[in-house]
Amino acid sequence: MKKSLVWQIIGAFILAIIAGIIFGEKIEVVAPLGDLFLRLIKFIIVPLILATLVVGVTSTSDVKKLGRLGGKTITYYLATSLIAISLGLAAGYVFSPGTGTGLTLDGANDVTPTETEGVVQTLLNIIPTNPLEALATGNILQIIFFAIFIGIAITLVGERAKPVQQFFDGFAEVMYKVTTMIMTIVPIGIFGLLAPVVGKYGASVLLPLIKLIIAMLIACLIHVIIVYSITVKTLGKMSPITFLKGIFPAAAVAFSTSSSSGTLPVTMKCAQENLKVSQETSSFVLPLGATINMDGTAIYQGITVVFIAQYFGMELTFAHLATVVLIGTLASIGTAGVPGAGLIMLTMVITAIDLPIAGLALVAGIDRILDMMRTSVNVIGDASASVVIDSSEEKREAKTA
Ligand code: ASP
Repeated sequence: MKKSLVWQIIGAFILAIIAGIIFGEKIEVVAPLGDLFLRLIKFIIVPLILATLVVGVTSTSDVKKLGRLGGKTITYYLATSLIAISLGLAAGYVFSPGTGTGLTLDGANDVTPTETEGVVQTLLNIIPTNPLEALATGNILQIIFFAIFIGIAITLVGERAKPVQQFFDGFAEVMYKVTTMIMTIVPIGIFGLLAPVVGKYGASVLLPLIKLIIAMLIACLIHVIIVYSITVKTLGKMSPITFLKGIFPAAAVAFSTSSSSGTLPVTMKCAQENLKVSQETSSFVLPLGATINMDGTAIYQGITVVFIAQYFGMELTFAHLATVVLIGTLASIGTAGVPGAGLIMLTMVITAIDLPIAGLALVAGIDRILDMMRTSVNVIGDASASVVIDSSEEKREAKTA
């Protein structure tokens, strides 16, 4: 990836902030530029996930190895999510963002909790009854299921399924090329997405909740700079600086789009080109991560639960905290990689420990800002997994070779 792109992205950030401050809500006129970019990037997600996952599975060519890859990936995802939610809770206690906000609950009725399905049904829903419908409606988990299944079957069929494998191989390459083309307008897209956000959230909206925003920012930075640096360095054998530099474009796109699914094409590109993660690992670990691994969302849940409890003057017991860790981890897995999904899943955690649902209204006003931060962490977390898993696989291959 070209070096100049990084500078263009930084330039777009700065310009967006300046333009947002100067023009306020009027800067909304540039929103179509953001939409243009979002649509371009979204249209490749479904074919990209399908093609790359099938290729990821077939290039593994050994079902046992695939199981090992899956096991390691999910273990890493779970472990980092648990750390993230604990960090969120700790940040909530250290910064006490729920005290002295001066907020009232006028908007309480704006937020309606959504019904969440039972665990069994949620798991069953991963199996598409009609894969074409899953593709048409963009149901990512179902598409992942379909792609992995097809990939395994292609491997088992062997010679006669070669043409199918080659088709997906070529198709995946085409999708990477499309991504490369779209990447050239990333800075314009970032400007179009960010400037209206800056324009809309003037200081007056942010100030009452500034403590919450800062607490979230610090927790996210700690998670990225400390936790991922340690995993990437010790398990992934990569310098944290190289890692952070390499993943920066994807983090910037995640920050401006608030969607880890939407960022997936860029994440894959950064992982493969800048972090030199093999196609085999990245095409398996990253689509899965964009759907189930949400460390930023886990941090957010920890912090906001403490925030809401403090606001209503409620003490959280150890049992409450343990419940938050457990349900919060599950909720972050169930969160879709789209804007605002974390806020909806927060209902699950809040009701699990009997906090007032009205508390959601307190965070709803600034949720977009928190979403930008958590989505960046979500994406960086996925990329860290790809580095770690890739390195562990190489080691194993080197040993067995
Ligand atoms: N927007 C987040 C993402 O796409 C999910 C969330 O709302 O927490 O990763």
